Amino acid sequence: MELVRYSRIDEGLKREFLLLQGTGCKWRKCTFCDYYADVSTEPFAVNKPILESVTGIYHTLDIINSGSAMEFDEKTIALIAETVEKKGITDLWFEAHWMYRNELQAFSEHFPCRVHYRTGVESFNPELRMKWKKGIGRDVTPDMIRAYFDGVCLLVGLKGQTKEDIITSVEIAEEYFDYYSVNLFCPNSSSEERDDELSRVFLTELVPLFRKSRKAEILIENTDLGVG
Ligand code: SF4
Repeated sequence: MELVRYSRIDEGLKREFLLLQGTGCKWRKCTFCDYYADVSTEPFAVNKPILESVTGIYHTLDIINSGSAMEFDEKTIALIAETVEKKGITDLWFEAHWMYRNELQAFSEHFPCRVHYRTGVESFNPELRMKWKKGIGRDVTPDMIRAYFDGVCLLVGLKGQTKEDIITSVEIAEEYFDYYSVNLFCPNSSSEERDDELSRVFLTELVPLFRKSRKAEILIENTDLGVG
């Protein structure tokens, strides 16, 4: 099935949202992940028409790929920069793995606008992060992450996680970051399993609380932002 790669988000953080193709996640170790197949050595052919459909309506553009923004090819990076200029984009969001934290500043210089980064922290419980092979060490604090990233993605509903882990992670995200997503784990071909009872508690008790924050985006299905 053809992936949907463009969507417009008309509430909360209003923006155009693109799922582009990268050259492949260089980390590839997260135990819950099986979505790094959408790659190519020459993704530009896929990315060009999607970038050409950007209108600039909200002056904010959010671009994800199956991996990190630093894994885009040069032609895609150049066309993103051109699109920013032509469509009056003032704020550009990307996702990047923690291992790229020292490259973010140089990467931002490609684009004539404010550039924001989000990273998949998944949990602020270091033990869970280690278990999920997230590549963000035990000693890494929210302060250290905030020094590089404006937003984080959190993952909920996996076996081994607790309701308290979820609440604490959301409280930290709310305190430290401008934006965070809370993603319910969707069973996939990875080795991780969904905790159905925890997922039920999340959906019935926690989602109504978390939805009160203007910084939070609650994602129940992988396609909730209109792409995928
Ligand atoms: S979650 Fe992101 S960083 Fe981790 S393996 Fe998947 S694509 Fe790579």
